[in-house]
Amino acid sequence: MRAVTFQAPGEVRVDERPEPEPIAPDDAVVQVEASGICGSDLHIYHGRVKIEPGFVIGHEYVGTVVAAGDGVSGVSVGDRVLGTYGTACGVCFHCRRSEYHKCDSARVFGHGAALGSLDGTQAELVLVPSANLTLRRVPEGLSDDAALFAGDVAGTAYHAIHGDAVGGRPLEPGSAVAVVGLGPVGLCAVQVAKASGAALVVAIDTVADRLEMARSFGAVAIHLTEEDPRARVKELTDKRGVDLSVDAVGHPDALDLACRLARKAGTVSLTGVYAEPAEVHLGVVWIKALEWRSGHANVIGHLDRVLAMLGSSVLDPSPLVTHRMSLDEAPEAYAAYDRREALKIVLNP
Ligand SMILES: [Zn+2]
Ligand SMILES: [Zn+2]
Repeated sequence: MRAVTFQAPGEVRVDERPEPEPIAPDDAVVQVEASGICGSDLHIYHGRVKIEPGFVIGHEYVGTVVAAGDGVSGVSVGDRVLGTYGTACGVCFHCRRSEYHKCDSARVFGHGAALGSLDGTQAELVLVPSANLTLRRVPEGLSDDAALFAGDVAGTAYHAIHGDAVGGRPLEPGSAVAVVGLGPVGLCAVQVAKASGAALVVAIDTVADRLEMARSFGAVAIHLTEEDPRARVKELTDKRGVDLSVDAVGHPDALDLACRLARKAGTVSLTGVYAEPAEVHLGVVWIKALEWRSGHANVIGHLDRVLAMLGSSVLDPSPLVTHRMSLDEAPEAYAAYDRREALKIVLNP
């Protein structure tokens, strides 16, 4: 089978690989029909996240089950399925508390030995462990484009708005929300906030197309540098600031802005990725009594709610798909994504 492999910073290749077969009783093999390129794939592409040359990459996928072990009961051979970006064991301390994102034996597709040596999904076939937790049938009528977002981007946006805990503190209807950074996660977070009853969603970025898309999802779009986001948010919230502020970038400047846009005793969601020390004004955080939430999204915990939102189209990320390319065009696709020419590229094997 063909699969996209990381070779060196700035270089991916389409390689021939042996076909995977189920090994454990709860393994399944999925024939991939669509796989997305994610911002975190770009970290690998740049060499910021280090993986072994030759490792198969990708972690977003929709496809059809072609083989399943005896212990797989949630899906069957022939089912059209979507999956989460990683797996969980279902039995460890964290899994028993539904903290699947912190599973002691969590593995992430396409991230090399450091994250569990799980071959990626930008391939014709993929081996999916813990299939009862990792896979779901695609709801009737849901397009591949929308289903592709369920197990990563949309689940992360759900986490940004509602937090990590399954059934945790939901967004109160009538809330004011700010989203800093309008990549796919930020744009989905705008939709999740609107669908969850936010009265005001402010969306901040520098790219005109992204601001326009946020506006089409019902947000008040604010240009980061051509306007004054802090002054605008004050105007829009009776000088208070927003109840929930989302850093969907993963940069100290975005986090600083998110903290300043939040109201006193408000919440800040650190949804963007942080791996290094970063400077923020802790005095602002402390004086305002801000609550912070952070980390990977509990996508397994959120998956059924996210699917319900996608299935009823209150959450519809399909407009975010700007490019559709074949698996063989992966090197061009990564280069185009790197040049920020695309919001979301879908690879079809
Ligand atoms: Zn991702
Ligand atoms: Zn576990």
